[in-house]
Amino acid sequence: MTCGQEIRRLAAEKGALILAHNYQPPEIQDLADITGDSLELARRAKEAKESTLVVCGVYFMAETAKILSPEKTVLIPRPEAGCPLADQLTPESVRAAKAKHPGAPFVVYVNSTAATKAECDITCTSANAADVVRALPEDTVLFGPDANLAAYVQRLVPEKKIIPVPHNGGCPTHHQFSVRDIENARREYPDAAIVCHPECSSEVQLASDMVGSTGYMLRNCGTKKEWVILTEKGIIHPLQKKYPDTLFHAMDMAVCPNMKLITEEDLYVTLRDGVVPVQVPDIIADRARVAIERMIKVSK
Ligand code: SF4
Repeated sequence: MTCGQEIRRLAAEKGALILAHNYQPPEIQDLADITGDSLELARRAKEAKESTLVVCGVYFMAETAKILSPEKTVLIPRPEAGCPLADQLTPESVRAAKAKHPGAPFVVYVNSTAATKAECDITCTSANAADVVRALPEDTVLFGPDANLAAYVQRLVPEKKIIPVPHNGGCPTHHQFSVRDIENARREYPDAAIVCHPECSSEVQLASDMVGSTGYMLRNCGTKKEWVILTEKGIIHPLQKKYPDTLFHAMDMAVCPNMKLITEEDLYVTLRDGVVPVQVPDIIADRARVAIERMIKVSK
């Protein structure tokens, strides 16, 4: 039996559901029961009937699954897979921003720690951030930790004032793309359309043909025959599977090292030994759950 076959056998034997983010290595995505963006994974974790969830992604994704399904065992093969963006917003900075802007709700990107979510009013993903902000009755909204996503939402929801917290938070993988990269790509692939993720800088967003989450890319990249994709290059795998006759180009540097830690061997050991179980203290999970469930309700 190959390692992949052993993984599927163990998952069936242990009643485990494997969830993988669109940025995971192709072989991990192919072994998963469910692949998707953060919103899709959060929804499926909440609805899952299985008693064990194995989350192949970064740590905040496993925390989100545990918060939504506290009665389940949630495992992550590489718990050290963090998200540098999530680390840029602390519970203390949320409390300080709320004290400075009394009455303004805090919309927190799911790319944040459970402890930070617990201080916030509602979560969002890159797929639903504008809808979440529109759904709030307040005209002034605190938003973090991704300032590029905040600027994207501000353009889509000009009737509200979005205050980014921190003012310069960003994902190192997405923030490295430049307008120069787009100009070069247009020269190299003159027939291709360019789509970028809203974690890219505002300049890159404005220079692209389309802006959207990975879920948006998967839904909309059937409209042209050639694309340049400005997000983590793991997304090329599901795009190519969905649109086999379309040509996709990724940027060489578009790799999130944290998203690439999990190997087939890690996944095998996780299923075999039941490690590493994710724990979120009730006092944090109960408050963070309110913020996440508010988002899921708004996104229906
Ligand atoms: S791609 Fe960026 S936001 Fe996503 S996990 Fe990696 S560092 Fe975090």
